[in-house]
Amino acid sequence: MNRVIGKYKGTEEGPLLVITAGMHGNEPAGVKALELLFKMLEVEPITNPDFTYKGEIIGILGNLQAFRHGDRFVSKDMNRCWEPDYIQTIKNADITTLRDEDLEIREILDVINIEIDRLRPDKMYLLDLHTTSSDGGIFCIATEKEESVQIAHELHAPVILGLLDGISGTTLHYFRQKNIGIPTVSIAFEGGHHDDPMSVNRCIAATINFMRTIGVVRPEHVENRHDHILIEYYKNLPEIVEVKYKYHIEDNHKWEMKPGYRNFQKIIKGEILARDNGQPVTAPMDGMILMPLYQTQGQDGFFVVEEWKGLSA
Ligand SMILES: [Zn+2]
Repeated sequence: MNRVIGKYKGTEEGPLLVITAGMHGNEPAGVKALELLFKMLEVEPITNPDFTYKGEIIGILGNLQAFRHGDRFVSKDMNRCWEPDYIQTIKNADITTLRDEDLEIREILDVINIEIDRLRPDKMYLLDLHTTSSDGGIFCIATEKEESVQIAHELHAPVILGLLDGISGTTLHYFRQKNIGIPTVSIAFEGGHHDDPMSVNRCIAATINFMRTIGVVRPEHVENRHDHILIEYYKNLPEIVEVKYKYHIEDNHKWEMKPGYRNFQKIIKGEILARDNGQPVTAPMDGMILMPLYQTQGQDGFFVVEEWKGLSA
């Protein structure tokens, strides 16, 4: 397995689309989805002779070392490291001195920067593919940028707002114009449970929806036969939700989520959700649970979300 999963260059001008997968090494579905997507793009001109692609797409494996071992990370969660100052020190460092996630980040940045220097695109899009340790939910995380919320909506999955306020150092925090140097729109997609084979199909469908929404392929091209899975799934889920609460875990080894919670499951205030260091953890409010943590690495125990009411009057 290589850092670059695939690359596809269109014959027409367009943006640079960077799709990352395996930013957490225990999430192989997105990686598999990208491998299949690049195969589909290779055969597309044969089935559709008038197929054109605008710009370039590059698929990147995030945490290569952790991926090889099937672990979420080697020494730290790579999706919490993207603080601009910290990234700058990684960029300036002698690469031979970097280890683990720092080395992974540097290699990703080098790949992206080479593409930007070569293509000089007017715009960059980042789609970061993930899966979750809990079942029952697909969703996307958008930055506050209007375009990112709008694209997220077109992926046929609930949009989560406000998640980025409660955590820091995710790819979505970093991949913005002020850090990249060109207009950049970023979205994360969560395709379902880590080990559900359908998560691969959902990641493919979301990626194709993404490509159509940003206009790099025409809707009649690149058959999206998995889209109905997303649409079917989406029917029973809220359209837009807002994060109201996050539970922070100090020591993951003392964390025990009560079994059976699914994403977007309704919870009521006072309900016992987990045990932390032997003490019961209760729901602080009514709402829906998001990303209840059923794995032994990670510090976000769960989130509570509410259906978004729109801009309050
Ligand atoms: Zn992840």
